Amino acid sequence: MDPPISHARPTRFSDRAALRAAVEAWRRQGESVVLVPTMGALHAGHLALVAHAKAIGRRAVVSIFVNPTQFGPSEDFARYPRDVAADLDRLAETGADAAWTPEIDTMYPPDFSTRIEVAGLTEGLCGAVRPGHFAGVATVVTKLLNQVRPDIALFGEKDFQQLQVIRRAVRDLDLGVEIRGVPTIREADGLALSSRNRYLDAAERAVAPRLHAVLARIAAALRAGAAAGPLLAEGVAELTAAGFGPVQYLEVRDAETLAPLERVEGPARVLAAAYLGRTRLIDNVAV
Ligand code: AMP
Repeated sequence: MDPPISHARPTRFSDRAALRAAVEAWRRQGESVVLVPTMGALHAGHLALVAHAKAIGRRAVVSIFVNPTQFGPSEDFARYPRDVAADLDRLAETGADAAWTPEIDTMYPPDFSTRIEVAGLTEGLCGAVRPGHFAGVATVVTKLLNQVRPDIALFGEKDFQQLQVIRRAVRDLDLGVEIRGVPTIREADGLALSSRNRYLDAAERAVAPRLHAVLARIAAALRAGAAAGPLLAEGVAELTAAGFGPVQYLEVRDAETLAPLERVEGPARVLAAAYLGRTRLIDNVAV
């Protein structure tokens, strides 16, 4: 058997001009550049995005920035896990070429005044319960795309509404980058990997996979022709009985427009957000 491939840690950049020079040098040599934006606390889901980046492009840049503007005032910005050294170690396994770790002042100088709002797509689901969240996401992702200027940027289907919002912003604003989604990486019991899973205690962790189980069962019933309403009501009741609460939403939406659906004919998604103790979990599955 071949020995495992070992890589060096990616080169870390915190200076915009140095990052830009490195990316431009690659591009001059005809090398394609793929960006994977993250908030760090990297897990196997993030690493799958980086592996995908290396499979489809020559150079992979991973940005690590915990973006304050996408957190609400009562959300977990202050306690969000941060360990860049561990993240860089983890990235060494993937062959990522560069880690872009901008300082807060680089991203948001004191008189920062611009915001990108994507109407419509952001009105329901997470947008309804996290006001301002997607404006924060769209704005920071636009900045990251302009800083790195990749050919392609990858986003997880785990954050499905985010993926659609970014696709729309990139199209509307002619940002000139290809956006691709990558399927959700899960634990063996179905729980979607998330940096927030580490907030779960042992009892919560045991209950957490029910979220995916409920979504998968609803998707199967919809595929068989069932109507959404009763399935969703049962699903909320099951999650509540299992210990989730509040269930912020459990919905069936068109996979592209995110319009609500009662019956499924084309590509659709079942999506949910629910608290388990103090931890907010989101997940979605394709129908
Ligand atoms: P985050 O650090 O949570 O902002 O996530 C960075 C990127 O990784 C986003 O595009 C997420 O959708 C993606 N991601 C997070 N968790 C997973 C997962 N379990 N599987 C696939 N992609 C993921």
